[in-house]
Amino acid sequence: MTIRYAVRPADPGAHLFHVTVRVDGPDPEGQRFALPAWNPGSYMIREFARHIVRLTALSGGRKLRVEKLDKHTWRCARAEGEVTLAYEVYAFDLSVRAAYLDPEQAFFNGAALLLAPLGQERAACRIDIFPPAGARAASWQLITGLTAARGTRAGGFGTYLAQDYEELIDGPVQMGRFAHARFQVCGVPHEIAVGGRVARLDLGRLQADLARLCETHVRLFEPRRPHPPFERYAFLTFAVDEGYGGLEHRNSTALIYRRDDLPYVGMKEATEGYRRFLGLASHEYFHVWNVKRIRPQAFVPYDLSRENYTRLLWAFEGFTAYYDDLMVARAGLASQAQYLETLSRTITTVMQRSARLKQSLAESSFDAWIKYYRQDENAPNSVLSYYQKGALVALALDLAIRHESGARRSLDDVMRWLWRSFRSAGPAYRGVSEDGIIEAIAQATGLDLARTVRAWTEGTRDPDLATLLQTVGIRLQRKLALESPHFALLGLKLHGGGGEARVAHVFDGGPAQQAGVAAGDLLVALDGLRVAPARLDAILARYSPGDTIELLTFRREELQRFELTLATQPPPRFVLEVDERGGTAAQRRRTAWCGPRRG
Ligand SMILES: [Zn+2]
Repeated sequence: MTIRYAVRPADPGAHLFHVTVRVDGPDPEGQRFALPAWNPGSYMIREFARHIVRLTALSGGRKLRVEKLDKHTWRCARAEGEVTLAYEVYAFDLSVRAAYLDPEQAFFNGAALLLAPLGQERAACRIDIFPPAGARAASWQLITGLTAARGTRAGGFGTYLAQDYEELIDGPVQMGRFAHARFQVCGVPHEIAVGGRVARLDLGRLQADLARLCETHVRLFEPRRPHPPFERYAFLTFAVDEGYGGLEHRNSTALIYRRDDLPYVGMKEATEGYRRFLGLASHEYFHVWNVKRIRPQAFVPYDLSRENYTRLLWAFEGFTAYYDDLMVARAGLASQAQYLETLSRTITTVMQRSARLKQSLAESSFDAWIKYYRQDENAPNSVLSYYQKGALVALALDLAIRHESGARRSLDDVMRWLWRSFRSAGPAYRGVSEDGIIEAIAQATGLDLARTVRAWTEGTRDPDLATLLQTVGIRLQRKLALESPHFALLGLKLHGGGGEARVAHVFDGGPAQQAGVAAGDLLVALDGLRVAPARLDAILARYSPGDTIELLTFRREELQRFELTLATQPPPRFVLEVDERGGTAAQRRRTAWCGPRRG
């Protein structure tokens, strides 16, 4: 029996959705309902149920007693006929993970809004989505990856369908007035909505660039008969003043991005900010295959009530983070030089942080719930990014496979092997075991890289990127990070913005940490000169490594005095350059890897 939902943006001013869920064949012992504790793709317990304001249950037009069993589960009294829950949800989180409603626009993930009838998660769902009342909302549009029911115009308010609860909450919905464009990828309709105001947005460029990018992805996974594994796809986008984020879904994604970095009419070469947006869209689109369909066993099925542990996020997020910018380059939307610059920044960030010496990729994946997603001021010293180091392991693997197979195989073959082996859905689907990636590498390439991969992912060994990059004619150069003197010489970073020099992070082994400067300290004077964030580097640039300075700070409004010896071994910065000595053979290998040289 179909579970019926209705969602009404009932009170935009108060940010309240009204939701009903009706179950025609409730559990005779008393139907239980629960809201997920997390949203697949975002590995943190969020306890969305804390935003449910009021909840009542009805059966046969009469009020039904309902009791709360735990933080996110309710149980109704026994009922003869159907049971309907009606409740309000406060929605004021404009992120890609939760729900938002104001008089201008609305957005929701099912996980934040739609209670699941426990025991009936496999039942088909239908959801009626209403526009807010009032003339102001008359021009509201809607975009979602969910399937429109017969009689509902795709992209209109009305009824949408899902095979089961998991599919229902995998189709977020964006509403409001937004810029909208359609395009085709390998004959399959795609669309993009951009909500929020953007000056002179170049929708045509977005449309053309995304079409090119998406086709490059489809051709990677299905080179012979390029076709994506869905019938339609939607990019839901929110333009904001400051913000960055994306969440992947089976045939859609929700993105949040800086409005000033979206393309504008008259923009010539893609700006760095716009290329970064393409990298974000590329990341979420790659997830269509890697994590939404090729899934770790730990996510089959998702347990939405608690943490789902896997040691493989370095493959599901790290490989995706490797391919996101790489595919932008392969699609011709970034030059080889621009791609190498992006890559060198990732190398620099990973190598500058001592976290990589303390936590393995497998451990970082496992603890994502309490570490990567809950970073504090000490994170650079303690939390390894499975995105960034995962991307470097993917790079190292890709180059090692290309080299050792005599250019006959690459990481692309591993991804295609995974896709062929784990594409099928359905009840028999098992997902990738915790050893499955190592197995896939062996199967897809015939190479035995198990020990190396384990050392990089289960241990803390750094891949030898310098040697591997040489195989495609690229030189990895180590320089000193002197362009940021306060980081290089003091070993700290400041909070961005604002007129005050507040310490955000203190790095392991640096002069600031040795002297006792702490995160949260407000820098006030250096050798008797007032410190403002804009002037700190200018002052420090006059000093040399090994010099001693006096630093005054406020901690909890109490003046502190420190004596610091400026770092004699500033942290490294890495630069990638094409080494022309490699000749045409290296050039050929480079082109096969990251696309032809342009610009
Ligand atoms: Zn991701």
